[in-house]
Amino acid sequence: MSPVLKITPIEEWLPVSDGPMIIAGPCSAETEEQVMATALGVSSIPQVKIFRAGIWKPRTRPGAFEGVGTVGLTWLQKVKEQTGLLVTVEVANPRHVQEALDHGVDVLWIGARTVVNPFSIQEIGEAIGNHDIPVMIKNPLNPDLKTWVGAIERLNGMGLKKLIAVHRGFSFFNRSVYRNAPMWEIPIELKRMYPNLPVVVDPSHICGNRELIPATMQKALDLAMNGLMVETHCNPAKALTDKNQQVTPAHLAEILSRLILRRESGNSEFSYKLDELRSEIDKLDEELIDILAQRMKVVEEIGIYKKANKITILQLKRWNQLAQDRIEAGVKMGLSREFIIKLLESVHEESIQRQIDVMNREES
Ligand code: PEP
Ligand code: MN
Repeated sequence: MSPVLKITPIEEWLPVSDGPMIIAGPCSAETEEQVMATALGVSSIPQVKIFRAGIWKPRTRPGAFEGVGTVGLTWLQKVKEQTGLLVTVEVANPRHVQEALDHGVDVLWIGARTVVNPFSIQEIGEAIGNHDIPVMIKNPLNPDLKTWVGAIERLNGMGLKKLIAVHRGFSFFNRSVYRNAPMWEIPIELKRMYPNLPVVVDPSHICGNRELIPATMQKALDLAMNGLMVETHCNPAKALTDKNQQVTPAHLAEILSRLILRRESGNSEFSYKLDELRSEIDKLDEELIDILAQRMKVVEEIGIYKKANKITILQLKRWNQLAQDRIEAGVKMGLSREFIIKLLESVHEESIQRQIDVMNREES
């Protein structure tokens, strides 16, 4: 069982408005002019509540632009004064926390590279101490829910209650159109574990390019995520970091105006119909599980037979043939190729494990 998180609802510390809560601002603060121009641009969009800008930006390889450092905090103070937006920066160590607190930063965020390290999370939590400041926790680089949850639980255990998880996608060895694979099942599982923890989606780091951003934002809303963090720059072509994934304030406003907002629940007639369909799903899932269990029984019988005849578990020819047949059959039934392959691989892996268990079983 997961411990209960004590979370202060966002509405208690952030003004509410219709639609998702938006965090916007450049990947990096570069100059005072760029920060102010971007901030003024996004401040006219009603859903934008928080202005972001990275000021400490150690890069994967040294030598490139590494952020403007502390001077950027004075620009953020100006943003607050002139626009009324809350401001947020990434902090990666206790010195960053101290400087951010000294300059009146409203919200802190912890980046994907820092979240992987529980030592850093502990130090950051200690540096925050009794300051009741909201903290956004990005997912770690690798698709590891436990590390993400661990950082959230650690900070919550240290007394921080204004927490938001930020889904920014995961590095993934398979080639993909995304810079960081969204693997939506991971933030969905996080929501299942902690329904009271707000989850904000960062489509910029998921997509890595502007073109995929609108569809990813819509998907986030369709999955009932609680807000969006979108990298926004007054002149993306000239951005010193992440130039391909930043949008102008005007482009952000346009994307937001096209998003379709759906409710999480509807009227009673809707609920009734939904319940009916859900019970159909429950029944089908029950049958599916029953069939899988029956399949594994037959797999074990085959294992016993192979063992008795000293035959290898993996029979490549059979597996290739079977996979081809099932993919064809599935595609004919309207299932996607990728889905059947994933399903077959998972069933096959379990089947092999069952037969390994049979081989290793002591005869009684
Ligand atoms: C960022 O938000 O600019 C950033 C560095 O993100 P991440 O930590 O998700 O890579
Ligand atoms: Mn960035």
